[in-house]
Amino acid sequence: MTDLPASAQIIVVGGGIVGCSVAYHLAKRGVETLLLERHQLSSGSTWHAAGLIGQLRTNANITKLLGYSVELYDRLEEETGYATGWRRNGGLRLACNADRWIEVKRQATSARSFGLEMQLLSAKEAQALWPLMNVDDVIGAAFLPTDGQANPSDITQALAKGARLAGAKLVEGVAVTDFIIENDRVRGVVTNRGAVACEKLVLCAGLWTQPLAARAGVAVPLSAVHHQYLVTEKINGVTSDLPTLRDPDRLTYYKEEVGGLVMGGYEPNPVPWSSGTVPEDFAFRLLEDDWDHFEPIMDLALGRVPALAEAGVKQMINGLESFTPD
Ligand SMILES: Cc1cc2nc3c(=O)[nH]c(=O)nc-3n(C[C@H](O)[C@H](O)[C@H](O)COP(=O)(O)OP(=O)(O)OC[C@H]3O[C@@H](n4cnc5c(N)ncnc54)[C@H](O)[C@@H]3O)c2cc1C
Repeated sequence: MTDLPASAQIIVVGGGIVGCSVAYHLAKRGVETLLLERHQLSSGSTWHAAGLIGQLRTNANITKLLGYSVELYDRLEEETGYATGWRRNGGLRLACNADRWIEVKRQATSARSFGLEMQLLSAKEAQALWPLMNVDDVIGAAFLPTDGQANPSDITQALAKGARLAGAKLVEGVAVTDFIIENDRVRGVVTNRGAVACEKLVLCAGLWTQPLAARAGVAVPLSAVHHQYLVTEKINGVTSDLPTLRDPDRLTYYKEEVGGLVMGGYEPNPVPWSSGTVPEDFAFRLLEDDWDHFEPIMDLALGRVPALAEAGVKQMINGLESFTPD
């Protein structure tokens, strides 16, 4: 069993992709960092994430941050010796109405302003990059050649390795159960293996951040919501260099996986987790497939990628993800 230190300058709670990234960046800055993970690294939402990495967002600061992530993923494998599955296949984002096209063009302007290479394409040009798609309703598309895809668990392990190489301590099997608070400041954490003092604390507990933060009197507006994607068998014409595809007007996204497609979608009526706090032992776990709820997403996807109608479904993934209420 790994020893727990008596103190650390900064304690990070949670060993998903966010916690491991925070630990990596703190350690690189020379901060004495301790990461505590209740189960195993990546066992929360991270292990089943689809792995699309797109930089274009409506918020310019988030786009900038995602641009930095891509730079990091370009070098992370070489730096740590841990394979991340990162592939710069590029990413397409479709616009199927005039408002969306205006939004995409605005995003292109802001993306270019901080150096992201971004091309605006006609529907036919987009189809040349993604031949399986029907473009009857497409007005135009944005293409970011530096977008890509990766294996989220492997990125997490690579970040963890990089953090350790830079001096951070990451300990699995340690649950933070409470905080030591003095004069309205967190001075340490209580764990199932004793107390550890700290100067600062970073909560990266994903689905469990809201109830944990509440113990310190902090309201974090996050709710757990079901999210599904399916993985198909091989489909003719799906190649390993296929760009990721986002189709916001049809609420869907796609990426290549082992010659087939990952296809998921964000329903306008998502299913919330409704049984109170997500159980502490919800590690490496999925929810039951919910095909009825997925059907409208599937219908929208069939309009875009008719080949899905004939494709065998290898697996449906229904996982929990935390969202802000808005
Ligand atoms: C089906 C699905 C597909 C997705 N696809 C994508 C995608 O393609 N691209 C994308 O960017 N995002 C995607 N996401 C979202 C992505 O998975 C999450 O945003 C991300 O994994 C969240 O990481 P995290 O580190 O915040 O949380 P988590 O991975 O949940 O990590 C939190 C960790 O904290 C630990 N923990 C909790 N409480 C405590 C405690 N008290 N003490 C110690 N440890 C504790 C947990 O055990 C857990 O390991 C997807 C999500 C789902 C559900």
